[in-house]
Amino acid sequence: MRKIIIAIDGYSSCGKSTLAKALAKKLSYVFIDSGAMYRAITLYFLREHIDWNNEEKVLEALDNIKLHFYYNDEEGTSDMYLNDENVELLIRDMLVSENVSEVAAIKAVREFAVAQQQLMGKKKGIVMDGRDIGTTVFPYAQLKIFVTADNGIRVERRFKELYAKNPNITIEEVKNNLEMRDYIDSNREFSPLRKAEDAVILDNSNLTREEQLAIALSWAKEKKLQVHEQD
Ligand code: C5P
Repeated sequence: MRKIIIAIDGYSSCGKSTLAKALAKKLSYVFIDSGAMYRAITLYFLREHIDWNNEEKVLEALDNIKLHFYYNDEEGTSDMYLNDENVELLIRDMLVSENVSEVAAIKAVREFAVAQQQLMGKKKGIVMDGRDIGTTVFPYAQLKIFVTADNGIRVERRFKELYAKNPNITIEEVKNNLEMRDYIDSNREFSPLRKAEDAVILDNSNLTREEQLAIALSWAKEKKLQVHEQD
């Protein structure tokens, strides 16, 4: 059966990556966390003290950035590599989270990341999650899912995840960070976070991971069948 492209978008900490990863595994598709790319670029800018308000400096810096995903056999995940260094854990740091939306709003940064994301989708058979996948990266994706969840639930989920790694983190910090990122992501000039018109909404506030996977899987199977019948 022909492979399709699945685009998953939504606000921060809605469980997009969890869903995308599980869906890709079930379908034997490639999973790409596009947010990890913006996070890796941000990490590079922070480390190298790049003034990201200076367009020339940004372009120069992007020339020195190589991003790759390599499959991690032990964890069964795809890890983000920045210039051949595994930065999968480092890019989840609060400092990166605090700056990533500003960096991701820069036109040159988006063009750099989107071009690579589109190449990854050439062979189809891909599940990519992010903010502009259904609107900009793959406007012709056969299945677009817009994931939502109650704000309080999102904050709680993210807090639990971060607290396990850093017990000094407060719920206020997590809440402020999510609100700030959602605001910047939704209001930026270039490909702001929007639900694509043809995306289906999946509100997972009261769903278990298994339940949301079952729903998304049924949509994917339906779309795959439609594509097959059109051939
Ligand atoms: O998905 P994650 O929360 O890790 O993404 C980090 C940030 O990267 C988002 O808050 C957003 O600013 C940016 N992003 C984006 N476009 C995407 C994916 C992520 O602007 N497709």
